[in-house]
Amino acid sequence: MRIVILGAPGSGKRTQTGLLAQKFGLTSVMTGELLRAAVAEQGAFGREVKELQDAGRAVTEDIMLSLLWKRLREPELQAGFILDGFPRNLLQALTLDELLIEIEQPLELILLIDIETDTLMERLVGRRACHACGLLYNIYNNPTVVEGICDVCGGGLYQRSDDNEETVSSRIHVFDHLISSLITHYERQERLLRIDGNGEIDAVFQHICKVIGVGEARTPMGKAKGSSTEAQQAVVSGNKTKTTTLKKR
Ligand code: ZN
Repeated sequence: MRIVILGAPGSGKRTQTGLLAQKFGLTSVMTGELLRAAVAEQGAFGREVKELQDAGRAVTEDIMLSLLWKRLREPELQAGFILDGFPRNLLQALTLDELLIEIEQPLELILLIDIETDTLMERLVGRRACHACGLLYNIYNNPTVVEGICDVCGGGLYQRSDDNEETVSSRIHVFDHLISSLITHYERQERLLRIDGNGEIDAVFQHICKVIGVGEARTPMGKAKGSSTEAQQAVVSGNKTKTTTLKKR
């Protein structure tokens, strides 16, 4: 399975990526991690990335694509991947399509974690962290017993400076604006699957497993090592009746 995952900041996209990777033996490819790894390696690209970052500038498209190009061709990715953080606009999406077709690994699915703006606002604006132990809370859906005090260590809670209402709403606005052209592009190609991201982590993940059709007509990970057991487990937790069908085959 070769997947791109899209979702606003706070949509739970990263968590779902981790769960998918684990369950289906996919490699998650996150652009942020690629950049960090490049800097750590201190190669030519890494030095360039570091210079740009130190100067407070965005990494150029060329560098990002070169890093992706190198990563996506690695043998371990032939078993499938989930791409998170790229593409961010239509031009990048088109370039990515070309690149993947060239290496005969075209994208199969684009998962869009759809989430209501109110839910996003609540998740991000309500977020608090403990100064002392770093534990995360949410004043709306996961509050501490005593307001402003960590339940575990008694430390004081704080709000990240970019989690205020104004910044969050502008982040969501920017995301909506950029993502709309991507959505149109992938919808036209009939590769976009919308996931209701408003529920709990588990519920959202079950929904993903269901819509990607695990155990139905498609057995996307059929060729990967140890995949049949994993696929069956996914089906067991997702839909019991389908397990029987799968085992019969
Ligand atoms: Zn604490």
